[in-house]
Parts: sequence; C-alpha cells; structure tokens
Amino acid sequence: MMLESNGITLGELWESTIRILKNDLHSETFNHWIKPVVPIALKDNSVTLGVSDDFFADWLKDTYGDAIKAALKKSAGRELIIKYEFGHHPEEIHDVAETSVAAESAVETAMPVDEVLKPKKRMTANEERNFNECSSNLLNRYTFDKFVVGEENRYAYAAATTAAKSPGVYNPLYIWGGTGMGKTHLIQAVAHEVLRKKPKTKVQYVTCEEFLNRYVDSLGAKKHSDFRNWVRNVDMLLVDDVHQLANKTQLQEEFFNTFNALHNVNKQIILTSDKAPSEIKGLEGRLVSRFEQGVTIEMTTPSFETRLAILKMKQDEHLIKLEDDVLQFIAERISASIRRLEGALLRLVAFSSVEGNHRITIDRAEDLLRNLLEEENVSRKVSIENIQKAVAEYFEIRVSDILSTKRPKNIAEPRMIAMFLSRRLTERSYPEIGEAFGKNHATIMHAEKTVVNRCDKDESFRMSVSAIQRQLQS
Ligand code: ADP
Ligand code: MG
Repeated sequence: MMLESNGITLGELWESTIRILKNDLHSETFNHWIKPVVPIALKDNSVTLGVSDDFFADWLKDTYGDAIKAALKKSAGRELIIKYEFGHHPEEIHDVAETSVAAESAVETAMPVDEVLKPKKRMTANEERNFNECSSNLLNRYTFDKFVVGEENRYAYAAATTAAKSPGVYNPLYIWGGTGMGKTHLIQAVAHEVLRKKPKTKVQYVTCEEFLNRYVDSLGAKKHSDFRNWVRNVDMLLVDDVHQLANKTQLQEEFFNTFNALHNVNKQIILTSDKAPSEIKGLEGRLVSRFEQGVTIEMTTPSFETRLAILKMKQDEHLIKLEDDVLQFIAERISASIRRLEGALLRLVAFSSVEGNHRITIDRAEDLLRNLLEEENVSRKVSIENIQKAVAEYFEIRVSDILSTKRPKNIAEPRMIAMFLSRRLTERSYPEIGEAFGKNHATIMHAEKTVVNRCDKDESFRMSVSAIQRQLQS
C-alpha cells in the first residue's frame, strides 16, 4: 500500500533515498544496514521504517541516522521525522524469518534436555545426522532460554538472537568481554537455536584452539583439503575465543581465507574474544578490519540485579533451595565473573545437602565461601592512586595535572574519568574520594554524572573508560 504525502509516494521516496545512500555509503555498509530496511508508511511529515529489532534500529540511528535523514530530506523536499517499527525483515531473508516463527512451539520442561533441544517435528535421517554432528560439541544448557538478560548483555543477546533468526544481517557478529561474562553461552545458544528450528543447517561451533589443532593435524597428514572442506562447507561458523589467533601468523592466514570464503557468500560468522579487535596485540590489520566490518559488541560485568536473577534461575536446577538473603549476599559479594558466582552457589548447595536440614545462614555462607570471597577482593582491590596513574598514562598527561585545578578539556576530562572510576572501583565514599583529588564531594558527584552521560552518547569515550577500567582490573 502506498501512502501519499505531498505528491510523492512511499515507493518513490524510498527509491530515491536508497539511490542517494548507495552513492554516499560504502557498499558493505549499504548492504548490511540500508538494504534490510523496509519502508512501511509515509504520512504528513513522518516516515516509518521497518527493521528487525530495537538493536538494529539503535545502531542505524546512532551510526547512519544523519545520512538517512539527509537523504530522505533531499528526496521528499522537506524534513521528515523517522519512526522505526520492529519485526520486519527484507525479502531475501524472509523465508528464514518465517520458518522460525512457524516452528515456534512451547517446549516442555519434563523432557531430557537433549530432547528439548530437538525440533518437535520428526527429523529425516539426514537432518538427524546433521543435528547430531553439529550439536556434539555444544553444551546442552547453553541455550537462549537459560540466559538471563540484563542491561549489560542486552545488546549482545539481541544481536545473537537476530543472528539465529536472520543469518547474515550482522556479519560478522563479534562479541567480546572479560572471562565468565557469558560469551560462550551466548554463541552456543545461537547454534542450538538454529539447529532446533532448521535441523538441516550446517552450524559449526569451534573454539579457536580446536581450529588450530585441526589445522595443524591437516598439515602433518597432508589433508589440507579435508580441513578446508570441514570449515568452509558450512552455513554458519561460530569461533570461540579468537583472541587466541594472536601471534600465530600462519593460522591467521588460514583464518583470513576461511573468513573471506564464507563472508563472500554471506554465511553467518560469529566470533567471541576477550578483547576488541583492535586491542588484540599480534593480530594482523587485515583481520582486525574484517572483524570490525560487521557488529562489535562488548559484554560487561553484570549488575547486582542480573547476578541475583542468574542465581535464582540456577538454583531452580537444584533440589536444595537457599534463602533469599543468602542469594543476595552472594550476588552482592561476587561480581567479577558469573562462573565464580555459579561456583559459590554450587558450593553452598553441596554443603547444605551434607549438613542436612540445617539452613545455611549468611554467616555460614561467608565462612564456606571464604576463599572465593578473598579471590574476589583481590581482583577488586584498586586504589585511587592506581586509578589516577592509569588514567594519566592512558591520556598521556601527568598525575599532577589530574590533581591540579587546570581546566583545559584534555585535562578536565581525564580528571572526571579518574573520579568516576574511583567511585566505581573502590569502596570509598564521595568525601574520601574528594579528599584524594583535593576537591569536595559535590565535584565528585558531578563528575560521576557527567561521565555516565557522556558514556551513553559517545561511543569512543565509553571505549576509553572501559579500556582503563579493564586495565585496572586485569
Ligand atoms: P565466557 O565465555 O564469557 O568466559 P561463559 O559463557 O563460559 O563465559 O559463562 C560462564 C558461566 O556463566 C556459564 O556457566 C554460563 O552458563 C553462565 N552465564 C553467563 N552469563 C549468563 C547469563 N546471562 N545467564 C545465565 N547464565 C550465564
Ligand atoms: Mg568462553
């Protein structure tokens, strides 16, 4: 249906806009970000564009919003307000999207996990074989429905579900973050989901290490073509921990070729790593730029709420239940890694079953978790001085500049970041931090707010802050 507005139809408007954008944007960008957009409606001074999800819309707005706005204005002859509508997919991925919806069905929990993961309809022998081959190195419990979504992993989760539903839209999808953040869980969840919905899909999940081992084996046995067939004859390639490619030149060469072979035919590639592409030392520039070509998402330390939600979900898997105050205690005190959080829960559950009916109190929990809590404190112990030093080093200024009253931006900004990180990484109060900076507590509060706001709006600013934070915590 074409809705008219001042003589121009929606179809005409979009056609012209596309033509302009195709000229202005890099073809890769155009294909990934503009082509999948579906024009929905044109009314008075607003145009509605259909996209897959809020993640896509946010990205589009942030990155190409100005270009799209300008092109629309040029085409319509006036300013248009852009609205986004979710749940739309372009033609070429339509069949994938539709099968996913059609195949959606409630999953009973009483079945063994293996059965739950399998598609409900009977599989053909071929499908069954492929399903078994592809899922053999996946952990059963790493599925989307066992993944707790919080503010810190919302984008990563949205992008992963999109990759499962509409392969090739975010290509590659590169997810990075510290250890125990849920990267492996998420990347395997994509594999499970795709196999459940379309059991014929060839999904290859490998760790970088396995990729290396297979590659090396193929060289020794002169079976290089087998290796290539194995890794290139897939619909989707998921490689976990690609930071391990660092300094392995020959492997990088092979990986580069594999990447291109798959990417050229728009097969979905998903990678995880403990660092952003450009931060991996010893990774060739051409791989860095390939990795940055699609969508890069960081997973950060989960908040208290997310940690508590994860604990509650995990404890449902156990017969023994801990009291809410004990769960809260664990969530409060263990924050650096979800793996450690799970470790704490398991330990308490195990002891609780040994101790019979005795209810585990917070004191008892503290006692039982002493080692874990100590590890946690070590990884969290950062001093204000260390923060000031790290920030100064990062911005190539002096600590004395940070402590001075100088106002230029190149000093005032790092100073605020140092104040913000002191709040976040130490347990010091506002007045204590104020004292360490020679300022009053209001200045620290103001700095904290300013940095939070800037992080929301300015991607490169946020990257700097989190780079310093990571360095301090490593
Ligand atoms: P990474 O690969 O980032 O080091 P993993 O994916 O191995 O981390 O996650 C560590 C553990 O924490 C796993 O057992 C995983 O199931 C669990 N986990 C991580 N994030 C979540 C989450 N958001 N919801 C539920 N479990 C999670
Ligand atoms: Mg992992």
